Amino acid sequence: MFDVWKNVLAEIEQQTSPANFATWFQDTSLVTAKDGHVIVGVKNSFYVKQLRARYYDLIEKALENNGIKVKDIDFEVVLKSKNKVRPREVTTPKPIKEHIKTIRATRKEPGPSSNGLNPKYTLDNFVVGSNNELAVAAARSIISSPGSRYNPFFLYGGPGLGKTHLIQAIGNALLQDNPDYKIFYTPISHFYSDFIDAIQKGKGKEFNLKFQKLDCLIIDDFQFIVNKEKSQEEFFNIFNDLYQLNKQIIITSDRLPSQIKTVDERLASRLTWAGAFDLQLPKFEDKCAILRAKAELIGAEIEPEAIEYIAENVNTNIRDLEGEFSTLLLMSEVRGLTPLELIENGSVSVNKTSKLRPTSPKQVVDKVAKYYQLTTKEMCSKSRVSNIKNARQVAMYILSEELNLSTNKIAAEVGVKDHTTVMHGIKKIKNDLKLNFLLREQIEEIKEKIYG
Ligand code: ADP
Ligand code: MG
Repeated sequence: MFDVWKNVLAEIEQQTSPANFATWFQDTSLVTAKDGHVIVGVKNSFYVKQLRARYYDLIEKALENNGIKVKDIDFEVVLKSKNKVRPREVTTPKPIKEHIKTIRATRKEPGPSSNGLNPKYTLDNFVVGSNNELAVAAARSIISSPGSRYNPFFLYGGPGLGKTHLIQAIGNALLQDNPDYKIFYTPISHFYSDFIDAIQKGKGKEFNLKFQKLDCLIIDDFQFIVNKEKSQEEFFNIFNDLYQLNKQIIITSDRLPSQIKTVDERLASRLTWAGAFDLQLPKFEDKCAILRAKAELIGAEIEPEAIEYIAENVNTNIRDLEGEFSTLLLMSEVRGLTPLELIENGSVSVNKTSKLRPTSPKQVVDKVAKYYQLTTKEMCSKSRVSNIKNARQVAMYILSEELNLSTNKIAAEVGVKDHTTVMHGIKKIKNDLKLNFLLREQIEEIKEKIYG
């Protein structure tokens, strides 16, 4: 019906610069044009003011040129879903720098508490959506009767989807209900290093005893379990002891045990005896709900359109969603503009899409260097200083594994003279990976940064 709007736009396009046209007219529509009362649909209230002030005459002329009589023109916010909402006044967010610091801090590993639990992670601030409702239902069941139906509780899913948050929340809730409960949260990598430490100090028995006394053991990031090490055997023993005593065991991993090459088959099957629950990527509505909850939590004001913009454009994970949200709020405070104004004037552009986004060799090299706090030039130098050399070899390894580059190409990318050095470097990292769980974690983190 309003195809005529296309013609109007075509005319306006000729009379404005491409940039202005794209900024101001791209998402406009004709809502009605009854009896000369024209209503133009726009994306948000920011456009209402600007279009009225700057382009009223131009629009009026273009409408008349296309046979539409104009008595007056009004602008109305029309959401993409075609729901109409009233233009709303936008207020500046409250000071929030401190809050953002707290958000950032809580994203780090748990605080110094000896049970490894960080009280910031609760079920109250874990937003339930279609991406996690089954896992949350199981979590609630564990809290009301630990050590029964969902034991062990195996939770898996990609990075940044809420695994740590949810299992920490279970731990905190259990502790709240049973203050004497002995709960221990540990990433598997710390379990491993503590174990080695204990053995070296001749305190293997104490280590084992400490775990046997627990009422609930929470192991995070199980994918970093090390193969054919005493630690895996030790973990298996502890697991069996606790399980037989009906103590709750909670484990997360980025994939199913059967997909972790390094894990003993018996252990792998035991971990999922009680089923496996996964956390999925949040859908648009889930993302909006999470952002709204975060805003409420820190008392920040952010326009619904800005929330929708972030939700629409961050398609990787919840960690990234939070990251973009915090950055936007921080910028908003620094620049004295509302989040939506920042989006509208192009100061921010969020575009975090698929994990499979293609990446260039240069990006990989830069990201690896940055991760190891080196400049690309330093990393790609001839230096034989061990941390620089190690970073260079990690870059070689990732270029080979992820981009399938030939060793000759890799040599050129990382500034070494021949491909045998590259072959040696890749082999070195592959070997190290067998035993070095820290290196594995680092490489996973780098990949997250590359694809995130
Ligand atoms: P993972 O352990 O799976 O890598 P995290 O538990 O660290 O992910 O979650 C990443 C961030 O996203 C954390 O800050 C966490 O609080 C937040 N988060 C994840 N899921 C939710 C949710 N459903 N509701 C609120 N915040 C969430
Ligand atoms: Mg985690």
